[in-house]
Amino acid sequence: MDTEKLAALAQEAEDRLQSVFRGFEHTAQINTARVLRAFREYRVSEACFAGTTGYGYDDLGRETLEKVYAKVFGAESALVRTTFVNGTHAIACALYGALRPGDTILSVTGAPYDTLHAAITGAARGSLASCGVHYRQLELSPDGGPDWENIRAAAAALRPAVVYLQRSRGYADRRALYTEEIGRAADVVKSVSPDTAVVVDNCYGEFVEEREPCAVGADLIAGSLIKNPGGGLAPMGGYVAGRADLVEYAAERLTLPGIGSECGATLNTGRLLFQGFFLAPHTVSQALKTMAFAAAVLEALGFETFPAAGERRGDIIQTVRLKTADNLVRFCQGIQKGSPVDSFAAPVPGDMPGYDSQVVMAAGTFIQGASLELSCDGPVREPYLGFLQGGLTYEAGKYGVLSALEEMLR
Ligand SMILES: *Cc1c(COP(=O)(O)O)cnc(C)c1O
Repeated sequence: MDTEKLAALAQEAEDRLQSVFRGFEHTAQINTARVLRAFREYRVSEACFAGTTGYGYDDLGRETLEKVYAKVFGAESALVRTTFVNGTHAIACALYGALRPGDTILSVTGAPYDTLHAAITGAARGSLASCGVHYRQLELSPDGGPDWENIRAAAAALRPAVVYLQRSRGYADRRALYTEEIGRAADVVKSVSPDTAVVVDNCYGEFVEEREPCAVGADLIAGSLIKNPGGGLAPMGGYVAGRADLVEYAAERLTLPGIGSECGATLNTGRLLFQGFFLAPHTVSQALKTMAFAAAVLEALGFETFPAAGERRGDIIQTVRLKTADNLVRFCQGIQKGSPVDSFAAPVPGDMPGYDSQVVMAAGTFIQGASLELSCDGPVREPYLGFLQGGLTYEAGKYGVLSALEEMLR
């Protein structure tokens, strides 16, 4: 296909998406207002950007940022730290804090994200399983949402200490949960087991909707700062937010009992975390526009997309069935070529621990592995699903997607 024909398809897609785009902009407006109200309430000022060294006692910036996160996420308190090495670490601290030997964790959205398996069910010393925490799992129902009847029955029978939900699709063949489904899950669980803590892997979901899980009944959420809430500026880190006691238990796992959330120097990261959180609702809207645009053009070219271009979104991931290995690899190579960093590199499929097929990954990002930045990857096997996500600006996202299509259709 020549460039002109592709440009015409892109223009048509964009025209068709105007009302979808307005929806994302509306959500960004609501969420930005909530962020700004929290900044005002907690008096964010230049003094908050100074940072501390050493033990990090009385870190005004850290303490203020954690209040801002808590407020915006509808939580009692929050722990926002660059010393979480990634989202997996934040989620794991949330779980290790909430669970004791003999307790049960019931996952109600199928298997947790791959990187958590070793910590939850793994045989290694130090896993939750090896500490005597029992794991049970329910699958999603055929409509892609929670299986309400089974959740009610299992929660009543097991009285689990934790019911666990993963909001985003991650890299599974499922859709994201919507906020009201998370709220309903919390209601269902608490109606039969009031002491159960509802814990949500919130990765990729922040600011996609107008409310976050804690505002609708979840007890604890956790996620990564190099995804949505970092706004593209946070250089590293993760967060946990929710009920104050559970947040402090998580802090005692990040540090240790007796220290908890009291310590943790911020060095020079303060401004980036504030500014990133300020930008995040907008940046998420840019990523969502990029995904809808990609879906619309790919649909016009005859590819299957999940969600479809105009469909409701619960996370910033776009799944595409690219039909052949060649398409998948070239699509990723085009994403890389259209990226601001390492545009000269050509990703090729390689072996990855934990995968039974080769995986191809494209990420030309400013922050290593940051997937609020445009990136794409997929296991090189049937049905050749590409998982596309991010886009710091719609303009660059669109450019990257068109670069991928050019490469694939060449
Ligand atoms: C990204 C992600 C995580 C955490 O992954 P990290 O790479 O450790 O930040 C967990 N769950 C889901 C659904 C994710 O998308």
